[in-house]
Amino acid sequence: MHRATLVSPIPISGHQERVISGHPELPISGHQSPPRDRSVTLNLAARLQSVGTPESIQLAHRIYACSPRMNKPCKHVLCPICAANTAKQRRRALERIYRQSSPTETFDLLTINTPAEYLLEGRLRLLEGWRRLRRQKRFGEAYTAGVGHIEYPSLSGQVGWNIHAHLMMRRKEGSGGEDLSDSWEALMKGLGGKGRLDVQEGYGAGLPFYVTKRQRRELLSLSDAQLEEVVRDVPGKKWVVRYKRFV
Ligand SMILES: [Zn+2]
Repeated sequence: MHRATLVSPIPISGHQERVISGHPELPISGHQSPPRDRSVTLNLAARLQSVGTPESIQLAHRIYACSPRMNKPCKHVLCPICAANTAKQRRRALERIYRQSSPTETFDLLTINTPAEYLLEGRLRLLEGWRRLRRQKRFGEAYTAGVGHIEYPSLSGQVGWNIHAHLMMRRKEGSGGEDLSDSWEALMKGLGGKGRLDVQEGYGAGLPFYVTKRQRRELLSLSDAQLEEVVRDVPGKKWVVRYKRFV
């Protein structure tokens, strides 16, 4: 990309029209991506540009130039197109594990959360809590493996974030009935916050989709201050939580 393009404002609205109509002379490198994802990217790039921090402007240009079909994915976790592709790959991998499991194997949906005023504080607390939880004896007695990712919707009508993770967990044969929610609540309290743990046993075939889902438009609904926080405190790579490995 030319230097001039990097410093000029991104002409969002004009491009969006043409992306949707599939105009063959589009100057945008990622135009072959599904129009919905591309239009979310363009809107998000415009928002990031208007947030105006060096990081947000840099990210605006990065996702704007993202072009998986030209073999140039930007691979940023906040890029709508790359996030969708990653989610699809993970979903397929988990669906394969689900399909190939024996009839006696059970998978649970495990959800852990911690509300937090600041994204970074909440993420660190959730990850530390998860690290301690999975070392507990009764956790090891309940599960053999699991994987999921962290989501961070803003708390509606309040300041802060509902940092949470949904995990697909493979239950150990013969286990059941452990109550891990007390453990999680105690861990979160010990780390200066609060939080809840919820288990839905034997969730069913929709589980791989549920734990890999992406909320395509959630970033667009954030305020400028929240978006600035996301850009600063969400690492560029995946927010994954796991317990051992499925195999
Ligand atoms: Zn990308």
